[in-house]
Amino acid sequence: MDGKVHIMLLPFLGHGHLIPMTDMATLFCEEGGVRVTIVTTPLNVPNVVAQHKDIEILTLKFPCAEAGLPEGCENTDSIPSPAHVLAFFKATTMLQSPFEHLLLQHPHPPHCLIASAFFPWASHSAAKFKIPRLVFHGTGAFALCASECVRLHRPHRNISSDSEPFLIPHLPGDIKLTKMMLPDYEKAEGENDFTRALKEIKESEVTSLGVVVNSFYELEQVYADYYTNVLGRRAWLIGPLSLRKGKRSGKQPSIDEGEILRWLDSKEPNSVVYVCFGSIANFTGSQLGEIAAGLEASGKHFIWVVRRSEKEFERTTDGKGIIIRGWAPQVLILEHQAVGCFVTHCGWNSTLEAVSAGVPMVTWPVSAEQFYNEKLVTEILETGVPVGVKKWGRIVGDDSVTSEAIEKAVKRVMEGEEAEGMRNRAWKLSQMAKTAVEHEGSSHSHLTDLIQYLRASNSIS
Ligand code: UDP
Repeated sequence: MDGKVHIMLLPFLGHGHLIPMTDMATLFCEEGGVRVTIVTTPLNVPNVVAQHKDIEILTLKFPCAEAGLPEGCENTDSIPSPAHVLAFFKATTMLQSPFEHLLLQHPHPPHCLIASAFFPWASHSAAKFKIPRLVFHGTGAFALCASECVRLHRPHRNISSDSEPFLIPHLPGDIKLTKMMLPDYEKAEGENDFTRALKEIKESEVTSLGVVVNSFYELEQVYADYYTNVLGRRAWLIGPLSLRKGKRSGKQPSIDEGEILRWLDSKEPNSVVYVCFGSIANFTGSQLGEIAAGLEASGKHFIWVVRRSEKEFERTTDGKGIIIRGWAPQVLILEHQAVGCFVTHCGWNSTLEAVSAGVPMVTWPVSAEQFYNEKLVTEILETGVPVGVKKWGRIVGDDSVTSEAIEKAVKRVMEGEEAEGMRNRAWKLSQMAKTAVEHEGSSHSHLTDLIQYLRASNSIS
């Protein structure tokens, strides 16, 4: 071979994994001495912007029809309804055999496979080919620890109602949650598709070489230490991956970047609210109406991203704001000095992008591990306030948030002394994030340490 470490990446088929793992690929290659193969499906190729000559992209056919999905449903953003979520996951498990065929055919077997946690079978494939496997969860250390403490100690079993707060046992920081906020798959009991999938994911984490985390040590120090020292996992924190310079992966923005920058340039610093709920979450028409009314009542300028599937929503904005239908250039927007508040679903990438840009948040978790991320932002980092969502949902957000709650939360984040405190803390964290990815910063050291480890264990000089 060419003396380079060959890393194969198998990102889950959702933007929340494809974007950071593509950034990761570029980061590895830019460090030098590494080449990367990204394995995805044909319809996801346009979302993967390979920015280095040492990145190769290979594809596997996605078995839509076989799994009962409509043709073309190759990404979580095109799952037609919550009822199709399990079919989507089933289709992803059917990738195992074609993936192993691809490994067999590849002229240069990889020295390491980094696969998303949602592909627990990747550990078996890696073992068959004697390749070490690393896990990418797509979440931060706090959520990894919180979810593991809930899974191990099941505190929600001992409470009398779904809305009664309980303490997450053993997790540093006295964090309270309710059963309603827990993901379905974490509170499920007995043997079913959810508990089996979670068990497999956890087992593959334990048997793997370790985890690669899109976060930085200084942000979640206590939890990164807890994860390694108490839970006993090996972790490399190499983020924030979005701080990598250059063209971003993900979809093509639905708005001209120059136009949005000109609009932002015309606004005062910290005066604009940016509202976006990631690539999967959807809201009912009535909830969208509450958001519109809340933003209007706040009196702030805003940029609001409405998903194309939210068809029923029609609204004009009286010049106060911009509605983007489809895909926003999110990092570009967050980094603009005019943006002073991010209303977010607390997807980990969005959360970390806000941290990196120093933008305080109104937290509006919807699904996955987002309620944990909300706790990190509002109670540990103290750079945001909750809008007051009470219930975890699968894709569709809890639609009980009133326009008054939205207005109040936005004003709390943007006006007065409390807001000033949040802004200062957010600014400090953004500086720490930038330092972490610089030469010899903590994330850069974790990255070089991982590459070095792979070189040494594969006897590559
Ligand atoms: N994103 C974007 N424009 C959009 C929506 C999302 O650029 O209009 C990006 C966002 O910057 C983030 C990713 O898509 O990098 C979404 O990941 P996250 O973990 O926040 O949420 P998910 O989509 O997985 O729920």
